[in-house]
Amino acid sequence: MNVRHFPKSSLGVDTPAGAIFSVHSIKIKMGDQGFLKPKVGFATTAIHAGQDSEKWKSGAVVPPIVTSTTFKQPAPAEHTGFEYGRSGNPTRNTLEECLAALDGGKYGLAFASGLGATTTIISLLSSGDHVISSDDIYGGTNRLFRQVAGRMGIETTFVDFTDLKKVEQEIKETTKMIWVESPTNPLLKVVDIAALAKIAKSRKDIIVVVDNTFLTSYLQRPLDFGADIVMYSLTKYMNGHSDVIMGAAIVNDDKIEARLRFLQNAMGTVPSPFDCYLVNRSLKTLALRMERHKQSSLIIANWLLKHPKVLEVLHPGLPSHPQYEISKRQTVGHSGVFSFKHAGDLKESRQILSALKVFTLAESLGGYESLAELPSVMTHASVPAEQRAQLGITDSLIRLSVGLEDTEDLIKDLDQAFKSAF
Ligand SMILES: *Cc1c(COP(=O)(O)O)cnc(C)c1O
Repeated sequence: MNVRHFPKSSLGVDTPAGAIFSVHSIKIKMGDQGFLKPKVGFATTAIHAGQDSEKWKSGAVVPPIVTSTTFKQPAPAEHTGFEYGRSGNPTRNTLEECLAALDGGKYGLAFASGLGATTTIISLLSSGDHVISSDDIYGGTNRLFRQVAGRMGIETTFVDFTDLKKVEQEIKETTKMIWVESPTNPLLKVVDIAALAKIAKSRKDIIVVVDNTFLTSYLQRPLDFGADIVMYSLTKYMNGHSDVIMGAAIVNDDKIEARLRFLQNAMGTVPSPFDCYLVNRSLKTLALRMERHKQSSLIIANWLLKHPKVLEVLHPGLPSHPQYEISKRQTVGHSGVFSFKHAGDLKESRQILSALKVFTLAESLGGYESLAELPSVMTHASVPAEQRAQLGITDSLIRLSVGLEDTEDLIKDLDQAFKSAF
């Protein structure tokens, strides 16, 4: 096998199966490929869907930010598609159309935040309804299910979705929704979405929601596998520049869309036109960004795998991942967010995280800048300690969000941080 030098810029360069990279004299062999191919036309759709200049009188090629909260009516109770900014806004509609197209869905709905999207989706349910959720989910979603939906009489059962028999066992008469994150957060467990949707469809009235924040429509399209709603925190990869808080839901079903559209307006969980403009703009580079995140994170995961102080690397793009085969079947590859466990404890975690210079110690993920964090005391501190322990969210579990910097600089940074801690 040829040993190649570490590529200076791997942007757009395909990583051939079995290619060996040499980084700091450590040889890294990339795993076999065999993931889904990116959707044909994805980048074109991201750039053009919903963006036609004809809909603006000026012919603007870049959709304008329409800030007007109200729209002139030709006659009382007659309007030309817009009446009041909460129920519809031209900049928001432009984004929603583009989002829908990217997921292969009929409808897109944008919300003020990811949790705003979740709150609205959960409001499809009524008191007495039951939700089955992945046990390892975004901390804020866990908190919303327990401390908000729970108080409104919507009960949630948390289950390990890597064992679908357990999901089947928990389905009861009142079960109305199955909430999936795949890969899960922060343990990167992969759920077989098609198999799960099949189980749910044994009962007509169960809605399957997939939080696709970690992968985006570029790397995974849950509607293709039978999901009913794709939910996003657009705050992360979809916007990708860490400067907007927003969420979305993508659906195919007319009835679900009508109800969500009603709730979006009735509950007022809407985003601002400025933010819609920024996310719409960011989607134009989504394909490029995700390719780079995918490649860089896989190289770093391989480097960590060989590190003597690393016990485990949780990355669905590694053949050692327990659900690697499922991951290959339903994704184009993995993004930049993954976790690893090192040989130390809280003290070493603190040292590694404070020594990092290129990675920023901060919550969140999916931006162009690399971030590192300690879920047990940061993003997942609101998950009850008992549940954390049970899941394996220990003080030696560090989560990375690999950004778009030069991969080699990120590896050097991790290398010096490890050296300072051990
Ligand atoms: C951040 C995040 C959310 C919540 O989104 P906000 O935009 O912060 O409200 C939900 N799910 C996942 C997986 C997230 O990473």
